[in-house]
Amino acid sequence: MAGEVRRRRSGRELSGREVGEDPFTLGVASGDPLPDGVVLWTRLAPRPLEVDGGLPPECRIPVEWAIAADEGLRDVVCGGVAVADGADAHSVHVEVDGLEPGRTYWYRFHCGRWTSPVGRTRTAPAPGADVRRVRMGLASCQQYDEGYYTALAHLAGEELDAVLFVGDYIYENEINAQAGARGYTGEQQLPEVFDHWLTTLDGYRLRYALGKTDADLRAAHAAHPWIVTWDDHEVENNYAAAVSQRNLPAEEFLRRRAAAYQAYWEHMPLREEQRPRGPDARLYRRFRYGDLARFDVLDTRQYRSDQAYGDGWKYPGPESEDPARTLTGAEQEEWLLDGFRESPATWDVVVQQVAFCQRKGNVGRARVSMDAWDGYPASRNRVLQGARDAGTANLVVLSGDVHVHYAMDIKEDFDDPSSVTLGVEIVGTSVSSGFDGVERPDDWENVMRVNPHIKYYAERRGYVVVTFTPESVRADFRVLPYATRPGAPVGTDASFVSRAGRPGFVPA
Ligand code: FE
Ligand code: CA
Repeated sequence: MAGEVRRRRSGRELSGREVGEDPFTLGVASGDPLPDGVVLWTRLAPRPLEVDGGLPPECRIPVEWAIAADEGLRDVVCGGVAVADGADAHSVHVEVDGLEPGRTYWYRFHCGRWTSPVGRTRTAPAPGADVRRVRMGLASCQQYDEGYYTALAHLAGEELDAVLFVGDYIYENEINAQAGARGYTGEQQLPEVFDHWLTTLDGYRLRYALGKTDADLRAAHAAHPWIVTWDDHEVENNYAAAVSQRNLPAEEFLRRRAAAYQAYWEHMPLREEQRPRGPDARLYRRFRYGDLARFDVLDTRQYRSDQAYGDGWKYPGPESEDPARTLTGAEQEEWLLDGFRESPATWDVVVQQVAFCQRKGNVGRARVSMDAWDGYPASRNRVLQGARDAGTANLVVLSGDVHVHYAMDIKEDFDDPSSVTLGVEIVGTSVSSGFDGVERPDDWENVMRVNPHIKYYAERRGYVVVTFTPESVRADFRVLPYATRPGAPVGTDASFVSRAGRPGFVPA
């Protein structure tokens, strides 16, 4: 048990009264909803763009929290005092329980004379409840210097049960004073400390803080509980388990991974169970929304075999097709397939990072992405066979990573359009990575022609609203016309539906 591991505790206690500047600059968040509880998060950082956030690193600070049944926080149902420990960058993770299922709550923190913004959250429905609708936001990929987080301001305004964030919350690249595409001038310019590739705990911490200085990210966290998982850039582009893209010695890379995982945990609304121990963290976990939907959140980075053929887009062959290769690791795969077998839910939803369906550049023998499930076909087949063996009628895979929207049918044989459709995949585009994007990518016609199971493909920034009912799953693909300037409006580019018991996307 993670809770039994003794941790270093920072030395002295500082009272809230000694905090002289507003420490709630990074906002609040909630996450990992259960029927009777959620995690509440904040981090004290009066100066978010400084190492240690402007607080002495070797101190603990008591932080009061309260959760209420009303927006004005008059009807407080639960509260207490948590400790913001310098060893965890003065982050606070409160695991609230005793709440009512399927209900909205509001929460906030106090520290000395400072009060945090109010956050809104929502518990999951009761086990076995006859749930008529679950609505999730699907988001990923927010490279800070490639655009504003305007998509998240719109996401904040959606009516959702939770947000599913499937990775690339930060990127490890250097960011110049102008913050790249954001074009900061004068006072807004970033300090030099951001103009380095991330390798250290301080560096990773600063990058999360920088992201959270964007008010739209704080608004999206304050509006909905988030269920998060990471992809590659939270550590390093396209890493695989202990294998660095730059082929660092494994020992050195694992030290970096430990720092990156620690900073991730510190800045996300995650439970103690997800706290890293060195370079290891148990991030894969499961959420139940009554009998309507189950969400199996995967980690496809920590346990994967190294990419075949040196990564990139390559022709598949004996190396990529080796049945010993895995994207999930054996333990996570077993957990997933066991889950399929015992699931009573109408919808079995696999929430993960990289594209699951085949994507080919041309007909016949074609290159595919060695970083996605296409580079791990045996692993994909085991998941699909496991779902079939379990009698999973309604498999839905939710993905990110590629900075485009896709609606795809999961085929028994992707090269045979007449083969059985086993489920559907929704890939959500990026929040900001990839700058403004384009309405129709250059390869659109080709991709749609050679991949008949791809029903929709678009390349603007945005997110997806995914609605589950007993009858169907619906994907509303939201897009923004630009991200390199603030203030973009949001629109729905396309909507697709797949019916329960009859998988396959059709326009809504
Ligand atoms: Fe990305
Ligand atoms: Ca990625």
